[in-house]
Amino acid sequence: MDLMPTERWKISISGIVQGVGFRPFVYRLALARGLAGFVANTPEGVVVEAQGSAPRLRDFLAALRREAPPLAWIGEIGSSSLALGDEEGFALLPSTASGPVSTLISPDVAVCEACLAEFLNPTDRRFRYPFINCTNCGPRYTIVERIPYDRPFTTMRGFVMCAACQREYDDPADRRFHAQPNCCPDCGPQLSLVGAAGKRVAERGEALSEALRRLAAGEIVAVKGIGGFHLAVDAANGQAIERLRQRKGRAAKPLAVMVADLATARKLCQLEALAEQALTSQARPIVLAAKKEGHGLAEEVAPGYAQFGLMLPYAPLHYLLLQGVGRPLVMTSANLSDEPICIDNDEAVLRLAGIADCFLVHDRGIHLPCDDSLVALQAGMIRQLRRSRGFAPKPIGLAAAGAMVLGVGAELKNTVCLLKDKQAFCSQHLGDLKNLEAYRVFQQSIGQLGALFEISPALIAHDLHPQYLSSRWAKEQKAPTLAVQHHHAHLAACLAENRYEGPVIGIILDGAGYGPDQTIWGSEVLLGDAGGFTRFAALEALPLPGGDAAVRAPWRTALSYLFAAYGAALPDLPFLAAHECGPILTMVQKRLNSPLTSSCGRLFDAVAAMSGGRQIVQYEAQAAIELMQLAGGPGERGFPCEVYAEDDMLKISVRSLIQAVAQAVQTGMRQSEISRRFHAGLVAVFTRIAEEARGREKLKTVALSGGVFQNRLLLEGLLASLGRAGFKVLLHKKLPCNDACLSLGQAVIGRAALKKR
Ligand code: ZN
Ligand code: ZN
Ligand code: FE
Repeated sequence: MDLMPTERWKISISGIVQGVGFRPFVYRLALARGLAGFVANTPEGVVVEAQGSAPRLRDFLAALRREAPPLAWIGEIGSSSLALGDEEGFALLPSTASGPVSTLISPDVAVCEACLAEFLNPTDRRFRYPFINCTNCGPRYTIVERIPYDRPFTTMRGFVMCAACQREYDDPADRRFHAQPNCCPDCGPQLSLVGAAGKRVAERGEALSEALRRLAAGEIVAVKGIGGFHLAVDAANGQAIERLRQRKGRAAKPLAVMVADLATARKLCQLEALAEQALTSQARPIVLAAKKEGHGLAEEVAPGYAQFGLMLPYAPLHYLLLQGVGRPLVMTSANLSDEPICIDNDEAVLRLAGIADCFLVHDRGIHLPCDDSLVALQAGMIRQLRRSRGFAPKPIGLAAAGAMVLGVGAELKNTVCLLKDKQAFCSQHLGDLKNLEAYRVFQQSIGQLGALFEISPALIAHDLHPQYLSSRWAKEQKAPTLAVQHHHAHLAACLAENRYEGPVIGIILDGAGYGPDQTIWGSEVLLGDAGGFTRFAALEALPLPGGDAAVRAPWRTALSYLFAAYGAALPDLPFLAAHECGPILTMVQKRLNSPLTSSCGRLFDAVAAMSGGRQIVQYEAQAAIELMQLAGGPGERGFPCEVYAEDDMLKISVRSLIQAVAQAVQTGMRQSEISRRFHAGLVAVFTRIAEEARGREKLKTVALSGGVFQNRLLLEGLLASLGRAGFKVLLHKKLPCNDACLSLGQAVIGRAALKKR
């Protein structure tokens, strides 16, 4: 008998606390401590009223945080005193759907150990059932239409649970208590196989065996997964992969490979401990890792590329496929290049007609497309290259609260981001907004944020480029808008992620961003913070003949930069002989359709093309990636690169660098050495500029952002060099350094602007 006086506390818990077994967890804690009261899901999160002695209540409160279930993520816990109630026991109350919304939805996660054990157990009623899940695993973000997270608001709405499933769902002691996607072979979704013409050819187990037979025969099978369709094909069958590439219009870009288990992954790639951790994590991203000799996969998987993108099965269906085929499968997002991933059965048959030989589908709907995430081990940490399934929409914690602001990103690798209180909600990867299908998903994803968070932003921040669809969308909305310079957004995103106020020296290296002077910026040293910036240094802006056409043809950029360095008396370099240079030189001289750019991506292109590398690229950054791979490691000596003052800023002389490269080519220097010296030259010049900025402005912290920092050699070289020079360096850790981080940066800048008003 407890002799302490009884108290009643109201406890509110926000964060990812719905659909992750949180209420039963609270229920068990309360029972174990003999507390009376109840726990309920509300739009504000989980609310508990608990009654008992103060020490027991305190102990209960501590356990809530300490012992939370694996998928839970606790934001804040608030508690207050209430008048005593008169209930006897502790009750679990049903959800309510009114009031303000602040609860969060979990990302989709891979099937858990407990479910996998049942899945593999011939006596279990869910033996080999492809839709097994529980409160600790399964789809979430991609099946939720609105909150609270309850079955009627998910794509599981149409499936009525059988008696056995309902019993699990109602039993607080069961692992499937209130598991919204709970189902079994008797009451849940089923597989079917649809032929190329859209006709069903097999159901359930037979659909699977027929799909396996076709995969083994080298056919291309579209497989409906968690966040969308994959195109699957035998990763050892070069001809089959070549057919997939031709049909998909994807000539050379590396394709992701799914392997049955970690042991197989180790046979294919050099895996360091952190990479293995990422590979086996609940988020199950694609992990980039160096190919091993004798890996046995077809060259066509990742031609000319030193790494494979590997992932492990995450949906139960993947286990059936990998186990059934018995070898690795190419599993690439099912779409035409640059379009978003397909999610709907009928839509897949339409859009993938002519690509897939058949479709392994099921009748659990996908509400929102979500591509596989992509990570790599760089600079001693796992870095995001594409943040999507398994990570979105987990919030990123900010240093301070502020107004609700929406950032809508730029154009390529678009994401949208909503700031709410002290959290930033960044969407999954939405793709290239030039594409109408991607623009549709962009609008849908903002709608989804609306459904999940009741957004009414005080401001919408967008890119300075007036023609981007995201900018145009922003201006059509009722809320006030703010145009944000691209590289300023990169800088602010890096600061926000690191919860660092600034000001800092931002070294932002990337492909293209619209500058206020109407040139295309891309290699910028900016001084500032979310509140503003000055342009301290940049590459010389040179003409890009044909704009986007030059992005596809690095030799054009090389020619233009050589012309800038030498004038009409071009040095005699071997690559020039392969091209018809006259028309391009005319474009450059007359400045016809040749915007000026300080792009870092284009500088890599030019150096690659001049030194015997790729003349035409088949995918983004291909020339730069191949140039970096050639280097093999860091260089000792860098090409000299002059810096001069002009227009109140420092200009990095591209001409001096191009001359150094041309001379090296003429003296017969190997391309690998040219690459090492080029990387080392960039590291040296940006370190020098950072030191100059420190001398003038007393700034000691550098933030690195922009897609070029996906280049491991440059990133690690600059990190080491800045470290030796005594700088503190901030990197992106949670978001990619490429344009996927812009929506966060824009939103943070928007907040700072509102504060000043
Ligand atoms: Zn599970
Ligand atoms: Zn059932
Ligand atoms: Fe960028």
